[in-house]
Amino acid sequence: MSLIVQKFGGTSVGSIEKIRDAAKRVLEYYNQGHEMVVVLSAMSGQTDYLIRLAKEMAEDPDPRELDVLMSTGEQVSVALFAMAIRSLGYEARSLLGFQVAIHTDTLFGRARIHDIETGRIKNELNNHRIVTVAGFQGLDTNGNITTLGRGGSDTTAVALAAALNADVCEIFTDVDGVYTTDPHICPAATKMDAISYDEMLEMASLGAKVLEIRSVECAKKYNVPIHVRSTFKKERGTMVIGETRDMEKVPVSGVAYDKNEARITIRKVRDRPGTAAKIFRPVFEAGVVVDMIVQNTSEEGQTDLTFTIPKPDFQKTMELVRQVGEEIGAERVLGDEDIAKISVIGVGMRSHAGVAQKMFEVLARENINIMMISTSEIKVSCIIDQKYTELAVRVLHHAFGLDNGQEVGV
Ligand code: ADP
Ligand code: ASP
Ligand code: MG
Repeated sequence: MSLIVQKFGGTSVGSIEKIRDAAKRVLEYYNQGHEMVVVLSAMSGQTDYLIRLAKEMAEDPDPRELDVLMSTGEQVSVALFAMAIRSLGYEARSLLGFQVAIHTDTLFGRARIHDIETGRIKNELNNHRIVTVAGFQGLDTNGNITTLGRGGSDTTAVALAAALNADVCEIFTDVDGVYTTDPHICPAATKMDAISYDEMLEMASLGAKVLEIRSVECAKKYNVPIHVRSTFKKERGTMVIGETRDMEKVPVSGVAYDKNEARITIRKVRDRPGTAAKIFRPVFEAGVVVDMIVQNTSEEGQTDLTFTIPKPDFQKTMELVRQVGEEIGAERVLGDEDIAKISVIGVGMRSHAGVAQKMFEVLARENINIMMISTSEIKVSCIIDQKYTELAVRVLHHAFGLDNGQEVGV
């Protein structure tokens, strides 16, 4: 007998029929003698709908109330799912984040899980019940409801699997597993049998939303094997596990894109100690997560500074940077929301030279201009014009030998 945590994403529970089908799937495991904990997302489109409602009510909705509102999406799913199981003749009980309890810090909209109490879930399991747990939500130290950030139900599932010492965490979604790139924009994408935590971390942080980044961090930290697979098919999906030797053979194992960043440039500021500190202080204080930063000397004693941030923070950050710009006598502040970050990823890159060069050449052949570049041991990222995203993903995927059935080689 194993303890299995399964998570069903929004599209997998998008209708009454789909919830019933997913419940039947959970029961197949239960009938094989496994203990089942099922983490659920809101029905597809619900979280976006709730955010729209909040924005209609207030331009800048109160973060506490926004979390109270957003968490209701998952409340609907766990209740309906438990009803589905009961209507099929089995025992189930739903639990919200605070009932479990899933303790988090106090950062509304982006809370981090501190610890999870397991007593109540174990009690229900001992009573042979299937437990449905609301993803994406927790309880902070002041007794408030918090949410974990978009895609956060993945994190709830993996953190629960770690806390309960589950045998596996299965993530059911609308694709068959983790692919070399998003199969919805690159039909030649290849499904991987396995991917290392490190590569999955890079893919997730670079935009592959199939797993939320914190869920992968948590899986790596507590060594939780994740199985990403399709809700609608029986076949095995992709295992996310520790590194294997095979993975090091290929320099590039995936291509990711992220359309959710924006770029800000502050032109002609004095090139002297303290300038960057002045510009970024208010940005960091506002809790904006800056991604790439590039500084260029433009003319004698002057410098341009360009950086990228999450798109939802664009307006707020532009305001802050305009203010500092005036204070420090910058020539002007420019913003651009129509950008995309394209990345090639691979743990094998460490031992293979030339990946960056090849990436630049492939993009140049398509006349795609590179605006910013950043590299690490296992990835190269370029900022490009957003309208070339799909093209860039496809040509890079092909150039690095990742197309389905293609011979791999650099
Ligand atoms: P869920 O609602 O089940 O959490 P998400 O929409 O969050 O599902 O994540 C699944 C989506 O991730 C897929 O539909 C696919 O478009 C996208 N995706 C992006 N990159 C990849 C990749 N490398 N492999 C698989 N899916 C990917
Ligand atoms: N419902 C939340 C979202 O849409 C969490 C999740 O689905 O993982 O972001
Ligand atoms: Mg998701």
